[in-house]
Amino acid sequence: MTRLLLASRNAKKLDELRRIVAAEGLDGIEVLGLDDVPRFPEAPETEATFEGNALLKARDACAATGLASVADDSGLAVDALNGMPGVLSARWSGKHGDDVANLDLLLGQLSDVPDERRGAAFVSALALVLPDGTETAVRGEWRGEIVRAPRGTNGFGYDPIFRPEGSDVTSAELSPREKDASSHRGRAIKALLPHLRDLA
Ligand code: IMP
Repeated sequence: MTRLLLASRNAKKLDELRRIVAAEGLDGIEVLGLDDVPRFPEAPETEATFEGNALLKARDACAATGLASVADDSGLAVDALNGMPGVLSARWSGKHGDDVANLDLLLGQLSDVPDERRGAAFVSALALVLPDGTETAVRGEWRGEIVRAPRGTNGFGYDPIFRPEGSDVTSAELSPREKDASSHRGRAIKALLPHLRDLA
């Protein structure tokens, strides 16, 4: 059994990776989270790109634990905001991880933006760093648009205000399985699968 560390404390991201690894039949891989390994100092996300931040976190995790490590950096890129909040998505309202404040601020900023210019994409970069120094980074994108009021209670972050392309409901109204099937993170994990198969 190969142990693969996901350098995240987000239980939902951990569940998502475990579900996808199980669905792909990668039985040789056991996915651990940061709570399953001894604590180590976590560097802040200072890079300008999703891939840069994901690599930073995966490198630190691999160096500290000696385990093959995956890290993700993700966010919402809004067309009318020239790609922001982008790498600042988690702290858009000024405080890290306040989902409701982040989403309310974004809705306020877009209140005068007409329906035809409310396009956005969820972006996920995943980095895999192996103890032998091999580094891989992949990206998944999920296009959609920002609705005018939050809807739905599934998911997290900006899900209640993101309506994926081709869908009548927001990503917070999709079941976890429906979201995995097309989400940015689902797509990034699929892009990483050939590398995970090599590990399994
Ligand atoms: P990270 O944990 O540093 O990657 O920050 C990601 C931030 O982007 C989260 O705090 C959310 O605000 C947003 N985000 C990323 N993926 C999703 C998603 O699937 N749904 C909703 N918000 C997301």
